[in-house]
Amino acid sequence: MIKNILTICGFALYALLVLLPAPLRAATTILHHDLQVRLFPGEARLEGRDALRLTVEGKEKVVFRLSPGARVERVVLEGRDIPFEFEQGSLRVSLPVAGGRSQIILRVDYQGRFQDAIPGQPVHSEDPSYGIAGTISPKGAFLSPAAGWYPDLPGGNATFRLRVEAPAGFEGITAGALVAEGRKDGQSYSVWQTARPLSGLTLAAGPYRMERDLYGDIPLLAYFYPENEHLAQTYLAAVKAYLEMYSELFGPYPYEKFAVAENFFPTGYGFPSWTLLGSSVVRLPFIVETSLGHEVAHSWWGNAVKVDYASGNWSEGLTTYVADHLYKERSSPEEALEYRRKILRDYTTLVDDESDFPLSSFTSRDSAASQAVGYGKAAMVFHMLRRLVGEAPYWEGLKRASAERLHQRVGWSELK
Ligand SMILES: [Zn+2]
Repeated sequence: MIKNILTICGFALYALLVLLPAPLRAATTILHHDLQVRLFPGEARLEGRDALRLTVEGKEKVVFRLSPGARVERVVLEGRDIPFEFEQGSLRVSLPVAGGRSQIILRVDYQGRFQDAIPGQPVHSEDPSYGIAGTISPKGAFLSPAAGWYPDLPGGNATFRLRVEAPAGFEGITAGALVAEGRKDGQSYSVWQTARPLSGLTLAAGPYRMERDLYGDIPLLAYFYPENEHLAQTYLAAVKAYLEMYSELFGPYPYEKFAVAENFFPTGYGFPSWTLLGSSVVRLPFIVETSLGHEVAHSWWGNAVKVDYASGNWSEGLTTYVADHLYKERSSPEEALEYRRKILRDYTTLVDDESDFPLSSFTSRDSAASQAVGYGKAAMVFHMLRRLVGEAPYWEGLKRASAERLHQRVGWSELK
């Protein structure tokens, strides 16, 4: 059972999934994925074609990562088939490029099955991903970078254009602007384009009804299953209010759109420009009142201003403080005080000498103790900081951090 607002956000975990070890010397880098996938929900399968725009340096052997269960059908370099090896998730290609640094287009045609098991009973888990990296089913599809649903290189940071196709009525949702959508030949399709490079792309799809609204000129989208379609307007109105509040506090909203999507297993993910919330939680009133706002706040803290994990994940503490705690504070000082007391109680009761650790070691929650430290104690640090520097410098500082560090990796020391 999901007991409180802190427990659903699994944002940090998503970020960690894509923190693959970077190669010593990354001569080949992916600048852009022009990706097309067709989903076959009844077969747990997708067919993909990724045209990768690469920067290469001379002749080189490159190893891409793709789901070990995938089958690679063709690799095409500048219009010509080239040999490749695919084994245990490693796609080895020799790039016969002469001369110095240049850009090439390499196309990979592949297909794969994704069927991580979905827990039957949505129970509370310490693992916010429920161990699911990739799954495609008639209920819905969820494909995270960790599933290897498109070819990638370690330490990837690229822009994406994704066209997703699925049987009519099965709609896809991902990061970036929705630039085209419709139905053709019995298929639903949508095309998404990210303006900024991302370290990885997550795709969700399902039998969604989509509703839309606008915040200024920013499209707001809601994807709910038919049973929960009536919630769309409530969510869109709430997102609008959160965007207004946070734009005032932190500066302009840093993405092309904001979308809320329902998921068929109980996630609370905040991705760049969208959030994915489990069916079992979307009906709970506190989700709209707190968790949704928490995910919107991650748009600034954790998504646009990125975390430098080498010095610890500060984003859960800050997001908790400017979302969950701030809502209490705006309701009444007593509620805010009670919220902070709860943080202290959790820390006292859940963390002992064995399980305690410094904030600089926090990456993502994997236990009640790590949550009490990484979310709770870190939120208290931001509270102490605010008391130390005073109201105006505190909020001005956050606004400056967001303006000056947008789309950069930031550690505790830079924040300080
Ligand atoms: Zn969070």
